[in-house]
Amino acid sequence: MKNIAVIGAGTMGNGIAHTFAQKGFKVQLIDISQQALDKGIATITKNLDRMMAKEKISEADKKDTLANISTYTSIKEGVEYAGLVIEAATENVDLKLKIFKELSEACPEDTILASNTSSISITQIAAATNCPEMVIGMHFMNPVPIMKLVEIIRGYNTSDEVTHTIMEISETLGKTPVEVNDYPGFVANRILMPMINESIETLYNGVAGVSEIDTVMKLGMAHPMGPLQLADFIGLDVCISILNVMYDGFKNPKYAPCPLLANMVMAGKLGVKSGEGFYDYSKSRKAENVSKQFL
Ligand code: NAD
Repeated sequence: MKNIAVIGAGTMGNGIAHTFAQKGFKVQLIDISQQALDKGIATITKNLDRMMAKEKISEADKKDTLANISTYTSIKEGVEYAGLVIEAATENVDLKLKIFKELSEACPEDTILASNTSSISITQIAAATNCPEMVIGMHFMNPVPIMKLVEIIRGYNTSDEVTHTIMEISETLGKTPVEVNDYPGFVANRILMPMINESIETLYNGVAGVSEIDTVMKLGMAHPMGPLQLADFIGLDVCISILNVMYDGFKNPKYAPCPLLANMVMAGKLGVKSGEGFYDYSKSRKAENVSKQFL
């Protein structure tokens, strides 16, 4: 299988396209927005330049990687010859159901359909297609070219053969795939998000301040980044939406988003991407200065 289509050229999509193209796969990168495609290719070029500067790849590797990627604004044209499609479009259930319905009509019968969703049920996505056994979750971590883990999510109907193929392809990429079953939050977010939510609750209850909470977790638990900084990096809007998926899915109050998180999202304080979250990013993208509201 050498022909891959990636849907969505945003943060994750361009990283996935980069990773496959660097390993010699032909990648059709598809987005509804030409601007997103241009930005995606510019990001891949910048990341390849950075790898070249660190002498991790040669100039020829960079050229070959870029030559392996072609861009499309139409799903139908982009997936025509794909053996595997990885969907990395915006995290929205209705959008994903629509894309997968279109994919099951446009793709060859033996095409594997994967989603990079952080939280939406693979079984629900598969039910929108006429080939649920061919649908699987392939949850890459950000930044994709660097992070080793791929969480492989078996939907209720995903076949053994498809799971095996996707585990093998992930290894070909130099990643470590881990197989998990399809329940809300899968494994990564089911464990990570309650920790982030609890750290926000700890701040909300006045137990400690932002840098104190992050320092305890960094130095005490050897985490490379504190949970509040990590929440800012992921995006507070993304965190609340994953918590809500788990809250709705399990009907268990332990996943209820902290009111402080809800307020910050409503106020537009989304973390690094909006310039402010628990930290202030107006001067630097590093979490050096705690946001004024928490001082
Ligand atoms: P993003 O907003 O950066 O990019 C989404 C892209 O999808 C945009 O370029 C948008 O134009 C495109 N898009 C929207 N509708 C489309 C359509 N109908 N056809 C083609 N393209 C379309 O989002 P992202 O952060 O890259 O997230 C993408 C997926 O990856 C989501 O499901 C998210 O949950 C998941 N994910 C994100 C992260 C992360 O850290 N950002 C980590 C793991 C998984």
